[in-house]
Amino acid sequence: MPSYMLVTNPFSGKGLSERKTGRVVEMLSDQGARVDVVRTRGPGDGERAVSQRKRDYTAIVAAGGDGTINEVVNGLAGELIPIGVIARGTANVLAHELDIPRGLRRAVGVILGGKELPIDAGMACNRRFLLMASAGFDAQVVAHAHRKRAMRFGYMSFLGPMCRTLLRARFPEVTVRMDESTMVCRHVIVANVPGYGGPFRPAPHAIYNDGEFDIVMYMKPGRWNMLRYGLLALCGSRSAKDDIIRMRCRSVKIRSHETVELQVDGDPAGELPCELEILPDSVRVIVP
Ligand SMILES: [Mg+2]
Repeated sequence: MPSYMLVTNPFSGKGLSERKTGRVVEMLSDQGARVDVVRTRGPGDGERAVSQRKRDYTAIVAAGGDGTINEVVNGLAGELIPIGVIARGTANVLAHELDIPRGLRRAVGVILGGKELPIDAGMACNRRFLLMASAGFDAQVVAHAHRKRAMRFGYMSFLGPMCRTLLRARFPEVTVRMDESTMVCRHVIVANVPGYGGPFRPAPHAIYNDGEFDIVMYMKPGRWNMLRYGLLALCGSRSAKDDIIRMRCRSVKIRSHETVELQVDGDPAGELPCELEILPDSVRVIVP
């Protein structure tokens, strides 16, 4: 009999309500599956539950945003148990990249009848991630937004912190050491997928299972350059610019002489320095 652990945070505004949790459990049990629901209350709860009990299940279902999926990935810690996704967050970057449908019934249909796709994960300072890590401007915005975090966490909650970060205009040098070269830039994104959240696609060439990171480095400081870089990412621009350098590599070390924030999969992850490494084919996701 297949068995599923369903991880959701009903208190976050992103998880499943009790009624919808009931519907998912019903849809899975109707197909002869056993379902255990893990209701998380705060950061780390989901990861702990997955880490302790993962071997009891056919698959782990993450019902929430990219943060919930990130917790499941870290709880699995390289164990190749497939992850099912019920996208309930704001951005749902992974679901979007892998064409996992948003509707409840269709998402459960994928979990029951889909196929397992092996994808790469990244490791950043001992945390696993599936989407991206970055250091500089956007990580400052994420850190500010999280300090003011409310129960519901939509795109609008980033607007104020973004304007304040732009106005403060602090863009220290960041040194990026890759497999074979070293560059100094002002903002760096280490991407595993093209999408970033919302309409932003800073690494349009990134492939989630080629065993390499796509590194995007923005070379010039200043708020107008940051705005321009943001607009180019918004258009998913693929054109070559001499102040935007793109490279591929398997490992990268990022440091700065100043205090520079880091974010991983959209959550604050402390400050530089950080070493990142790709873990090829180390996660299985159930896709249509
Ligand atoms: Mg890649």
